[in-house]
Amino acid sequence: MLYVHFIPHSHDDMGWKKTVDQYFYGSHNTENQAGVQYIYDGVIAELVIDPSKRFSFCETGFLWRWWTSRSPQRQDQFRKLIQNGQLEIIGGGWTQSDEAAAHYVDFIDQMTLGLRTLSDNFGECGKPQASWQIDPFGHSREIASLFSQMGFTSTTFARQHYLEKIARQNNKSMEMIWNASDDLKTSLFTGALYNHYVAPDGFCFDIRCATVDPFIDNPNMPGNNVDQKIDAFLKKVYEQKKITRTNHMMMLMGDDFNYMQASMWFTNLDKLIQYTNARKVNVTVFYSTPACYYKAIQDAALQQKITWPTKDDDFFPYASNVHAYWAGYFASRPAFKGMIRVASGLLQLSKSLMVMGNLAGDNLNALQIAKMASALVQHHDAVTGTSKQDVTYDYQQRLHKGMSQAQTLISNYLGRVQSGPNATNPGSVPVSLCYLANETVCEAIVNVASFQITVFNTRAQWANETIRIPYYSSRANVKGPNGIAVTKDLLRSFNITTMSSSNYALYELHIAVQIPPLGFTTYTIDNSTSSPETEPEKPVTSVDATSVVMENQYFKLIFDENYVLTQYFDKVANKMHSLTQQFFYYIGMDCRGSRDNNTLQASGAYAFRPNGPEVPIGKPTAHAFVNGTLVQEMRQQYGDWIYQTIRLRSDANYVEFDWVIGPVPTGAQVSKEVITRYISDVANNDIFYTDSTGRQMMKRRRNFAATYQYSNDEPVAGNYYPLTNRIYINDATTQMTVLTDRAESGTARNSTIEILLHRRLFYDDNFGVDEVLNEPGKDGKGLVVRGSHYLVLGDVKKAASTHRPLAVKVFHKPVVAFTKSGTNMQKLGQARN
Ligand SMILES: [Zn+2]
Repeated sequence: MLYVHFIPHSHDDMGWKKTVDQYFYGSHNTENQAGVQYIYDGVIAELVIDPSKRFSFCETGFLWRWWTSRSPQRQDQFRKLIQNGQLEIIGGGWTQSDEAAAHYVDFIDQMTLGLRTLSDNFGECGKPQASWQIDPFGHSREIASLFSQMGFTSTTFARQHYLEKIARQNNKSMEMIWNASDDLKTSLFTGALYNHYVAPDGFCFDIRCATVDPFIDNPNMPGNNVDQKIDAFLKKVYEQKKITRTNHMMMLMGDDFNYMQASMWFTNLDKLIQYTNARKVNVTVFYSTPACYYKAIQDAALQQKITWPTKDDDFFPYASNVHAYWAGYFASRPAFKGMIRVASGLLQLSKSLMVMGNLAGDNLNALQIAKMASALVQHHDAVTGTSKQDVTYDYQQRLHKGMSQAQTLISNYLGRVQSGPNATNPGSVPVSLCYLANETVCEAIVNVASFQITVFNTRAQWANETIRIPYYSSRANVKGPNGIAVTKDLLRSFNITTMSSSNYALYELHIAVQIPPLGFTTYTIDNSTSSPETEPEKPVTSVDATSVVMENQYFKLIFDENYVLTQYFDKVANKMHSLTQQFFYYIGMDCRGSRDNNTLQASGAYAFRPNGPEVPIGKPTAHAFVNGTLVQEMRQQYGDWIYQTIRLRSDANYVEFDWVIGPVPTGAQVSKEVITRYISDVANNDIFYTDSTGRQMMKRRRNFAATYQYSNDEPVAGNYYPLTNRIYINDATTQMTVLTDRAESGTARNSTIEILLHRRLFYDDNFGVDEVLNEPGKDGKGLVVRGSHYLVLGDVKKAASTHRPLAVKVFHKPVVAFTKSGTNMQKLGQARN
């Protein structure tokens, strides 16, 4: 007997072509016909009247919207359907998270929010067993490991490299045991779907499938199509049977935003089940759920002594066809990706302040807003950069609202600290977080002679480091909490004309801070003339080039006569390395090509498809060297659209590359993909390592795939992998690691690490978003994005002990809260933890 499990489901994106609320309410239907609230209403009505029916819901963020907008009677109906097993919650995260650009901390946070919401409302019955990642564009080993650690017993997805899918179908390994961590020995039963996540062709009965006829089964009616439909259906069943190991198979009956008119689906599925089973051809069809299906096949495997294949690597990069490598989205919308990481840092701080300050009441609502905003943007069309521009603005507004909750919580926390733990009305200390500090703007301190900064550390170790803030005066006195002067550098800021604005700070202040683990330190800054004046360090442009060396206790950076980095001297190992960095761009493939030979594939929001070799951007066209006490900077300008500061901090065992790119020149609407390369003398033999969702590391080899025969059809994109936070190359003695401050896309070849930083594209890649990735930026002239890389070069044996803590440091950057003087901060006293 062959058992066919029908899984009625709807894939509901939390934002893509419409915003999350437009999708929930069903507005803007000309853009995308979808209204999730009606899916819930209709499905529940169908299940209530027929106990044989099943349905599986996934996104808790939509469930929460429905739940909080419906009557207690409707909620009760839903709860009963959960309890009797007709409704199964799958996945259970707030959203169906991306797996390439989402950082593992953010992934855990969004899963926690979703699962806790389910637990609060449905108890044990609402706890999902089956993870459900049917649409994300590639799959991470670390996420599989985390699902396993969270207690999920299976995961299901649709998208894998087309060659891997062919190989798996041929050897019946679409279902496998995924060994998800070498260290933790976690594993997760994994099912890759045969027919994407949709019904077999001809069996979608949704309102959105207008070309499919319903069952016409009255024997007296002309057009009766029962025999014809069942013949066609059984053919699909036998086709799918060829790739399964057991006598069970799963057929997903649904698609994007299906079941808005649930009776259309269910009426026809009822008939499909009835007439197929009536054939008595040893095929039994029934309503099921993912957890039921996975239990059935594992029981069958035990009985029939069927073994499962294993998988040890991951599912990146995903290619949907020979020229469609989905490695573009790893880097699409770099400013949004950066904002998500900053918001996450603020969320981590907010959570710890709630506990340490024993904050309650309205603060709980504030924290919830921040959690929901950060969770939402982990969606596989949000952090990926694959939603429409207007939808991205909506995500950014929500995220900003979430970030501003951190400002509120910091104020309330400091109020609590000032008033003491027993105060009944603790009050608050007004603070500003200066969200535009990365644009050298802090409006809160413009024309302010004296102010305080309270610097928070969300790490569990001391933060002894240098912070940088915009500053508006040529004098600066900086004192720590005990009134003692603190080491600082007051520098003229880098005049980055593409970021100019009325409040662009003329100066920047670098301050050596010391912050206790999970604590804060307050510093007072003033420009009073009674204090000794500090002459700002001026950038120098006329140094004898051959003498330009930047140096600290760990290493020296040596620049040539063009102010290009050429060498790195490791003082600890007493070893010289070649080291240079260069910018290039690829021209993105346009829409020309031929459908006949499958080359009609543009580079777009999802796909990365360079059209030819990289184009060098050349040497810096302007430069300046700044020699401070805490920092040394080589400031470089490349034409009028790339600025870079190579920064060496006095106490850092890494080099910071602080880049500002954009607006990317458009030419005659030529798509450009801007990359940076770091080139050293590491003989890595085309082997490199990239992180898996920011945690474990994956070994990569150029032009190679572990589970299928690699085909070199896209020589650049085929070797690109997601960099959630780092990439490295090494040989027997030396390792070069580059950490990123946001999700990016990268690769390596011999001695070279290459990272995709910014994309300005004029063609849609035809994967649904139906809009070109040409971000307008603030003024409509094109997006300007600023980010940082942190490069570590040296002894391979010491590399992990440097890049691992540095990754934590980059993720948990100190948070700086500004307070105007006059606010009573004295009681904050010493550094606190
Ligand atoms: Zn989706």
